[in-house]
Amino acid sequence: MESKYTALMQIAAKPDICFTEGQGSYLYDRDGNAWLDFVQGWAVNTLGHSPEPVAQAICAQSRRLINPSPAFYNDQALQLANRLTTLSGMDQVFFANSGAEANEGAIKLARKWGQKHRKGAWKIITFHNGFHGRTLATMSATGKPAFEPLFNPKVPGFTKVPYGDLEAVAAAIDEQTVAILLEPIQGEAGVIPASSDFLQGLRALADRQGLLLMLDEVQTGIGRTGNLFCYQQHAIEPDVVTLGKGLGGGVPIAALMAKQHACCFEYGDQGGTFNGNPLVCAAALAVLEQVTTQGFLEQVNAASSYLSDRLMALSTRYDMGPVRGTGLLLALETGSLDAPAIVKQALELGLLINAPRPHTLRLMPSLTVSNGEIDRMAELLDAAIQRSLA
Ligand SMILES: *Cc1c(COP(=O)(O)O)cnc(C)c1O
Repeated sequence: MESKYTALMQIAAKPDICFTEGQGSYLYDRDGNAWLDFVQGWAVNTLGHSPEPVAQAICAQSRRLINPSPAFYNDQALQLANRLTTLSGMDQVFFANSGAEANEGAIKLARKWGQKHRKGAWKIITFHNGFHGRTLATMSATGKPAFEPLFNPKVPGFTKVPYGDLEAVAAAIDEQTVAILLEPIQGEAGVIPASSDFLQGLRALADRQGLLLMLDEVQTGIGRTGNLFCYQQHAIEPDVVTLGKGLGGGVPIAALMAKQHACCFEYGDQGGTFNGNPLVCAAALAVLEQVTTQGFLEQVNAASSYLSDRLMALSTRYDMGPVRGTGLLLALETGSLDAPAIVKQALELGLLINAPRPHTLRLMPSLTVSNGEIDRMAELLDAAIQRSLA
């Protein structure tokens, strides 16, 4: 369909809606039509749309200092780096502007580390159906079949193996291998969690072989899975962690964090004009303050069970499949039902949900979502399913 928004490069089919406002779990167009949002910018809006603490932080910071240039220190970036290292157990942080850029940094860090400590080893093991971003290197690291024919030649050096298969990882390691990079829950693949056994096995394997274990927590980090970081559910510590999406509560900020032994960038290796500017760091500090408030993550887990129960009830009613995921990153297998058709009907009824696969629905509401909003979502989803069957 031809879009009337011809001044924008057409990069995806979008519905003919133009949003002008958002508040909490709701989005509005200019005519005042409302949508209940269980996508939240793809798990970005940790505190919902236009949350007051983030709005206040951005407003106040914009009057104080927006960008002194990355060639100088600023107080917000220093505070945020301290906060993130304390909370994560990592030692140092590099700020970026997107998840892909944070992962690109992780790939560069691994290659540098290989140069310095592993006789030039440079290959990274990644996983089938994994997703790491849309820069050339992160598309190359991504295991999405649809990316394979695109923009060749790709960046070399990524060996892809089946997710969850520890033996395949072990078999793929050679003297050129320097790191393993994965999502603790594959988000774009349809919310596929790694088991604790697999992650602990990777940790042990990486230790035995002298490799870096790098976790892409761009989608799973900052409370999304019910812990501040998903790896905390699995009793492991990675060497490198990347963050993005939820970190800024909707504002573009991402982070590459690493343990001391993995930090090896030298002057000139890494940087970026907007990286770690105080405006976005102030937003991230406001998000972290909320998410680390006593009881916040307990509430996320309570909302998760409530949402999961509602989804299970629908699954039983329409003979669909299981519910997967943790915290407020949940997927419902639709069985024989057409997930994109349900998403389309939901949109018409005023509900935003996502179908990452033909038979998978993904829900990633605000971490502050209420039980009432979950009930409303379940009603609208029920109606959307009925309409998709009609
Ligand atoms: C969204 C996502 C990315 C890419 O982040 P951008 O901010 O879109 O560049 C990378 N990894 C994972 C796991 C993601 O979900």
